Amino acid sequence: SNMKLILVFSALFGASLCLETFVGALGKLSAEHAFPNQIYFPSSFQLDFWLNPSTPSLPVDVRIPFNSLQAVKVFLESNNIEYSILIEDLQVVLDEEKQDMARSQQRERSSNTFNYGAYHSLAAIYEELDNIAQEHSSIVSKLKIGESYEKRPLYVLKFSTGGTNRPAIWIDAGIHSREWVTQASAVWIANKIASDYGSDPSITSLLKKMDIFLLAVTNPDGYEFTQTKNRMWRKTRSKIQGSLCVGVDPNRNWDAGFGGPGASNNPCSDSYHGPSANSEVEVKSIVDFIKNHGNTVAFLTLHSYSQLLMYPYGYKCTKPADYAELVRPAASSVRSLYGTAYKVGSICSTIYQASGGSIDWSYDYGIKYSFAFELRDTGSYGFLLPASQIIPTAEETWLGLKTIMEHVRDNTY
Ligand SMILES: [Zn+2]
Repeated sequence: SNMKLILVFSALFGASLCLETFVGALGKLSAEHAFPNQIYFPSSFQLDFWLNPSTPSLPVDVRIPFNSLQAVKVFLESNNIEYSILIEDLQVVLDEEKQDMARSQQRERSSNTFNYGAYHSLAAIYEELDNIAQEHSSIVSKLKIGESYEKRPLYVLKFSTGGTNRPAIWIDAGIHSREWVTQASAVWIANKIASDYGSDPSITSLLKKMDIFLLAVTNPDGYEFTQTKNRMWRKTRSKIQGSLCVGVDPNRNWDAGFGGPGASNNPCSDSYHGPSANSEVEVKSIVDFIKNHGNTVAFLTLHSYSQLLMYPYGYKCTKPADYAELVRPAASSVRSLYGTAYKVGSICSTIYQASGGSIDWSYDYGIKYSFAFELRDTGSYGFLLPASQIIPTAEETWLGLKTIMEHVRDNTY
């Protein structure tokens, strides 16, 4: 098989600077041989896998610290893995992103409006959530469902036209903090739901029957860290007893095949599952909220990147019986707007076996409509998706979400 791999070459100069800088390049690899199953990269390379080695059909993206660049090149060549560089200097992309944010902030200040096509600080996002709730107070309210490890509030917007304990749809974003297009899309989607109620028959009829709960920033500590210290941070910021390394992968921390394949027991790993299931207060807060609410019928989570729409399971490679086929029309809806092609399948079959994930927990808990989106792109920018793509991404994602929600509306009694 002809396998394509993408490499992100980069350097990491850190300690003395406030924000870690990443100098390097993005590259594409192709292998004629049996990568990844028979090739293991030495841990001394300190690779940051943006996409983990998985099925032969998917590319592998990895950022390589500058110090291991030469060793990795030699390693690749000796293993007959071809590669080409996609981005010459990752830091250039990061600098552009930062300048873009600064320019947008200035425009926002002078016009006093929130720009949905820009990335924002946590404070600015929280302020906008308040604005949405205030402007649409008849159907939107803000709930605090808990606090992060570093005591930042976890805010959920509740969209409801009344009733008690109505069937509910849960949507979350940003559980992995560096996946910035997800938090940004969630804010756009919040505003879309609020503004379209009353004019869009689909969302209007949905809200007459059901509630929507939306958590735009699931991992606020991590998000703050990506903005102030390390743009590539994925995990929570909890301190791990007995380790100098910080943070747990909050999407390996759910009580679903906890500690199984596709999660690491090494606290320094980016996929560290944590000391125990629900050890992360961000995860525990959602679990408690869903358990206390009692009538959640759909659980939808937004990640980036790689353009996938997935159903359980991740911790095992069996197909669930229920509603898996719903991903196909939803993916068609996503594609209908700008032609963005999504692959569909179970987590295990589309990416890799991964345990302790949120939609496996929700599905096993009894929420049959449990789906995970991986938004744009497929690796040209990866986590550094330009802000100019936020609104198109949010628009197409919304169509996919709506297709699922309409089905849930019409099949929930
Ligand atoms: Zn993710």
